[in-house]
Amino acid sequence: MSATQWAEDAAATIMERCDRLAELTSMDGGIERVYLSPEMARAYELVGGWMKDAGLAVSIDPAGNLRGRAEGNQPSLPALVLGSHLDSVPDAGKYDGILGVITALSVAEHLVKSGATASLPFAIEVVGFGDEEGARFGATLLGSYALGGGWNDEWLDLTDANGVTMRQAFTDFGLDPDRVAEAAHSVEDAIGYLEFHIEQGPILEQKDRALSSVSSIAAASRYMVTIHGLSSHIATPYDLRHDALTAAANIIAGVDEISRSAGTRANVGEISAEPGGVNVIAGKATFSLDLRAGTDELRDETFARIWAMADRVCAEYGVTMERTCIHTADSAQCDPFLRSCIEQGIEQAEGKEAFGLISYPGHDGMAVAGLLPIAMLYVRCKGGISHSPLESVREDDVAYGAEAFERAILNVADRLHERAERQPLTADIVLGMGA
Ligand SMILES: [Zn+2]
Repeated sequence: MSATQWAEDAAATIMERCDRLAELTSMDGGIERVYLSPEMARAYELVGGWMKDAGLAVSIDPAGNLRGRAEGNQPSLPALVLGSHLDSVPDAGKYDGILGVITALSVAEHLVKSGATASLPFAIEVVGFGDEEGARFGATLLGSYALGGGWNDEWLDLTDANGVTMRQAFTDFGLDPDRVAEAAHSVEDAIGYLEFHIEQGPILEQKDRALSSVSSIAAASRYMVTIHGLSSHIATPYDLRHDALTAAANIIAGVDEISRSAGTRANVGEISAEPGGVNVIAGKATFSLDLRAGTDELRDETFARIWAMADRVCAEYGVTMERTCIHTADSAQCDPFLRSCIEQGIEQAEGKEAFGLISYPGHDGMAVAGLLPIAMLYVRCKGGISHSPLESVREDDVAYGAEAFERAILNVADRLHERAERQPLTADIVLGMGA
């Protein structure tokens, strides 16, 4: 089965537009575009222009997100939000986030120009979030938290690497830092959130498939773990040592074993030891630990096993452990109704049975899920590689993806039509559809 002609044409445009956006960067020889930066303003000008050409009403919201809106079968209906992010990590690829915004834009354009929006029982809103990665201020998902009603004014005091506060950055971007929370949707003016995104993992490639839905965005928690021992001369006999680094190494090996057997994903990406002498037993070792799991329960059970193992190792090595949680996010389950509309869209576009994957990377949808029902469409990326200049997607996959995404929106409309004739749609009605 091949994608329809409009989707093939759209995919060519989408690939070209991702190339154009890659040129809006603050980094020599690479891609870097962060929240509230001059590069982001240029990206908004470019993408905002494409939105206008598509027939969307364009605005930059109080949180510094780019929004384009097409009305449905009457003005001022609640919106189905189609979002992803336009910011990037340092030395990024061209597609993480960007592909989702640009594909949503092409789909919205086709819905407008084919006249389909005139019969939709909701408006369409394409959102390019200004911050998902957190590369500038450390805190992540800032744009999507604002849209989802989870904005926290304390973030305004965070500073970037140059000492610029977020408050100042808002002012420099032409926005009022005291009005960011006004970017929030409500369950009366939006009905749900759909996101198109590259997989950032290898499963679709392994299964030889272009597309999948997402069942949930994984729960994640991050800790900094410090092992306190006693530094001493290499001559110290083993039974008298309090070797913090060897204990840490054993704990890290234990984390790997436990996480593999639990079906979760763990990573220790940073480690340091003090005092750091080749002939000195380390008195202190500090490492990071990030763990992701499909459900909150599985994350919590796995951490319980990890800490019990770590306590045994500490006892064996005569050291103590101190741990600080530096980030925690509960899993976001995708809404069964919206997910089924996406899976039906995949089957209509690809002619193959659809399935769902757990998303281990975090996404904007997590920050919106507190307010609105969410669902995601994943598209295969080469080797599962992301957050790297090597990020790559196939144009024919993008064509299938655009087609499936449009069909998903039309499926939502078809299945809500009768309800919409009786009463105005709300997010609660959509939530009730899957129950
Ligand atoms: Zn992303």
